[in-house]
Amino acid sequence: MNKPINLTNNENLSSNDCNPIPTPVLTPVVTIDFDDIKEELELWESAVVCYVLGANPLQNVMEGYVRRIWGKFGVDKVSLVGKGIYLVRFATMENCEKVLHSGFQFFDSKPLIVKPWSPDINFSKDPIKKIPIWVQLQGLDVKYRGDKSLTKIVSQLGVMLKVDQATKNRDKLMYARVLVEVSVDQPFPEVIHFINEKGIQVDQQVKYDWLPVSCTICGGMGHDKVKCTRKPPGHTRKVWVPKPVQLETTTTQPIQPVEPTNVFVQATKFSRIVGQQLKPVVTSTTYQALSESDNEVESDVDMSMKNHAGSVHSLGRGVASPSPNG
Ligand SMILES: [Zn+2]
Repeated sequence: MNKPINLTNNENLSSNDCNPIPTPVLTPVVTIDFDDIKEELELWESAVVCYVLGANPLQNVMEGYVRRIWGKFGVDKVSLVGKGIYLVRFATMENCEKVLHSGFQFFDSKPLIVKPWSPDINFSKDPIKKIPIWVQLQGLDVKYRGDKSLTKIVSQLGVMLKVDQATKNRDKLMYARVLVEVSVDQPFPEVIHFINEKGIQVDQQVKYDWLPVSCTICGGMGHDKVKCTRKPPGHTRKVWVPKPVQLETTTTQPIQPVEPTNVFVQATKFSRIVGQQLKPVVTSTTYQALSESDNEVESDVDMSMKNHAGSVHSLGRGVASPSPNG
């Protein structure tokens, strides 16, 4: 077992040893010092780096979007620094700070990842572990729409970050819509449960505006293999079509069929009557069309995500460098 390694039998090793690749001698001829980069540093210190998780919007689309959500902060420049990754500069540091604290933004229901620019920043899509997603609690009885109840009910999914305006105003009662911080790799059940004030377990239907699911065909995020637009050879490519209007939603169901409460019956009627209004995001359709055209490049994010899971090494294209794990 403990035979000494016979180097003379190893052709590769010996040939490498005999013919080393000559290393060019590089003499440093110039040195960049702080003074040389000062102006550029000052230029970008009022900038943020951002990208959409699960999509790579084209530059003109992103520029329009950024100016729409952050226009009041004085957007100076929207520059492409990597596939789907943008550097957005603001006129002042103060406004840049305000943007960083202005709350969550979504592009076609997908979270916009925003971080402050720094001289040593790595322009890549780091693996993201926690993200905010919008969750709809279909037909949730009005008495459970308060912050206390909502926080408890969605705690099974994650931390409730906020309630949307229509839910807060009690304008739309066919569902409650809340922003929840979730882990990208957690389960996303379609039904969750809670025990109501009468001790009865309630099955609560859940709908998600978007999910951080990965596709096994293209590695992209936000869709599964059934909805993938990049089919293997031999398949026809899927084209974009408007999302079908949701005509019916199922509502909460009591688990004891002998004792159905009036509440649930009413909720069903509500949702049928006003089902047309179910679409929560006004701009959704527009961005769907625009970002679908860019689906080809969706996989960078997901490769980062996979990298996080340790199965695929990521990136390499554009200016992006390999993203660190964690
Ligand atoms: Zn796919």
